[in-house]
Amino acid sequence: MERVKLAREIIETCLEMTRIGLNQGTAGNVSVRFNGGMLITPTGVPYEKLTTDHIVYIDADGQHEAGKIPSSEWRFHQAVYHTRPDAGAVVHNHAVHCTAVSILNRPIPAIHYMIAAGGGNSIPCAPYATFGTRKLSEYVAVAMKDRKATLLQHHGLIACEENLQKALWLAQEVEVLARLYLTTLAIVDPVPVLDDEEIAIVLEKFKTYGLRIEE
Ligand code: 13P
Ligand code: ZN
Repeated sequence: MERVKLAREIIETCLEMTRIGLNQGTAGNVSVRFNGGMLITPTGVPYEKLTTDHIVYIDADGQHEAGKIPSSEWRFHQAVYHTRPDAGAVVHNHAVHCTAVSILNRPIPAIHYMIAAGGGNSIPCAPYATFGTRKLSEYVAVAMKDRKATLLQHHGLIACEENLQKALWLAQEVEVLARLYLTTLAIVDPVPVLDDEEIAIVLEKFKTYGLRIEE
């Protein structure tokens, strides 16, 4: 797809992410895999002010085009594309319920069958490291080796999928899981979970199940 069209889709995804309550202010960032590297949101620009000219290209070596400043988190986006060849798009946000679980430093366990949307029987929680650092991108690479989403301790959520719409869909599903987890945790801890045998069945079904996009 051509660059301008992808840049437009990135901006639409950012606006939709805020509209559906997953993000606020200038928190979060969005990218798509492009030309051996990626297209990514700029740092610190409010989503409603974004134009396609703001979107930054970063090549495979991590070099960005002159005159633009990419998201401070470009390193963990790069780490996801490197670790997961299936990832075509990455979204990051500070969704309130995901972030609350990350503050407890817990993974989200298999409390609902939709956990399988993340590719396994949990949504992990990557250890804390300062935002924008190489250390954080290393933790993300480990957490997302066999998952499509991870919490970031004391920070937020990252989700990847083959395209932007699916990545945002997954981020929204994980936020619902986090909300369910917190709701049930207020009553009982540990919260009952689905066993691995059932999750294996659901994971198999998820090979042909998920968001369907009419082109
Ligand atoms: P950027 O504006 O640099 O993308 O930072 C937002 C953020 O969420 C940092 O983790
Ligand atoms: Zn962040």
